[in-house]
Amino acid sequence: MANKEIPYKIYLEESEMPREWYNVRADMKIKPAPLLNPATGKPINAEELGHVFCEELVKQELDDTTRLIPIPQPILDFYKMYRPAPLVRAYCLEKKLGTPAHIYYKFEGNNTSGSHKLNSAIAQAYYAKEQGLVGVTTETGAGQWGTALSMACSYFGLDCNVYMVKCSYEQKPFRREVMRTYGAKVTPSPSESTAVGRQILAEFPGTTGSLGCAISEAVEAATTRPGYRYVLGSVLSQVLLHQSIIGMEAKAALEKYGVKADIIIGCAGGGSNLGGLISPFMGEKLRGEADYHFIAVEPASCPSLTRGKYVYDYCDTGRVCPLSKMYTLGSSFIPAPNHAGGLRYHGMSSVLSELYDQGLMEARSVKQTEVFEAAEYFARVEGILPAPESSHAIKVAIDEAVKCRETGEAKNIVFGLTGTGYFDMLAYEKFHDGKMTDYIPTDDELAASLSKTPKF
Ligand SMILES: *Cc1c(COP(=O)(O)O)cnc(C)c1O
Repeated sequence: MANKEIPYKIYLEESEMPREWYNVRADMKIKPAPLLNPATGKPINAEELGHVFCEELVKQELDDTTRLIPIPQPILDFYKMYRPAPLVRAYCLEKKLGTPAHIYYKFEGNNTSGSHKLNSAIAQAYYAKEQGLVGVTTETGAGQWGTALSMACSYFGLDCNVYMVKCSYEQKPFRREVMRTYGAKVTPSPSESTAVGRQILAEFPGTTGSLGCAISEAVEAATTRPGYRYVLGSVLSQVLLHQSIIGMEAKAALEKYGVKADIIIGCAGGGSNLGGLISPFMGEKLRGEADYHFIAVEPASCPSLTRGKYVYDYCDTGRVCPLSKMYTLGSSFIPAPNHAGGLRYHGMSSVLSELYDQGLMEARSVKQTEVFEAAEYFARVEGILPAPESSHAIKVAIDEAVKCRETGEAKNIVFGLTGTGYFDMLAYEKFHDGKMTDYIPTDDELAASLSKTPKF
């Protein structure tokens, strides 16, 4: 099939859609380090995790050995409404760049929430429903995760409580209203509705909140009410597992046309889309069946892989969640305000951290203005208005394609286009008005927050 003409969009037939998630941990000889209980410093067990998370999700979180996990039929049915996501051959971009490289992108913005987060939201809502729970709680910063979870909960008839960082709640009324359209209860955080919220408000009156604080409120709301559990949209291994649907589809689509990827690129916030995209390919690499060059792209303002340390750290500023060994900037690190909302997390998935530490993946950091230059270039050439997060991957895909122009190599470049940017037009406005800045933390700033990581 190698010479078959490749269409602009490669779709899979319904019958060709993956029916299993792939768990890359099963093929890792050195497994990611276990999560630790913050109270005891010992590996956390299923029972302890079960107070916070749904039972089946706890099983998935702790499963380092099952390679393929069947996707339950109700989740497959939901996936069919917006999947398969197309794998697009970026012919127009290739032509514009004058590169011999072949560029492909996996587009995850084809659903109302506008990003890949729905892939895991629907799975998490399904398992909560199966367990007979009343509802779930979560936090959201920029709003993509809250939106995806609202859609998923409304589908399964679950109560959905979203703690939204107050400044986003006020500045992003459209995301908030999408969530309410799907029946979610959206509370600006910090709020008076939790003890931790009241404590923070007493200490810092008028604070506009932070993600760490919203996490603490959401966890409290889940653990103090019967019938509720907490759910999280990235970082956790269960989320990477669900997101492997991206990579499974991409691999099937490439195989359909006899294409072997050379470079695979994704943006990295907590690591779920990147982990999901690369997992099945990484599996081949780990088993010695094929080689790929993986590139994680992060913002220079929040460079956990490229400048962080690989140590145990808190996942949240409130220090209520389990400890994870990961590349981190320190849980007290507060990135300068920038517009890659979904990439402003201080840590990284423990799976990706371990793969990176073993030298199986490269990481690069890119500056905000160059990301928006790439975003605008891409929008004008390929039509899709990309999310700022996704545009980190676009930037590096373009860089790699330009290198191919110089060397004359016809490499196959695949990147993840995680979502659309319609709710990020204030960021685009700043860019167009020349008001966007490129803040890069100093070594001293990083050393200060890294010095506060717990010692074990
Ligand atoms: C949340 C988000 C990301 C980053 O999250 P990961 O868990 O690192 O994938 C990237 N792109 C978009 C559009 C997002 O909404």
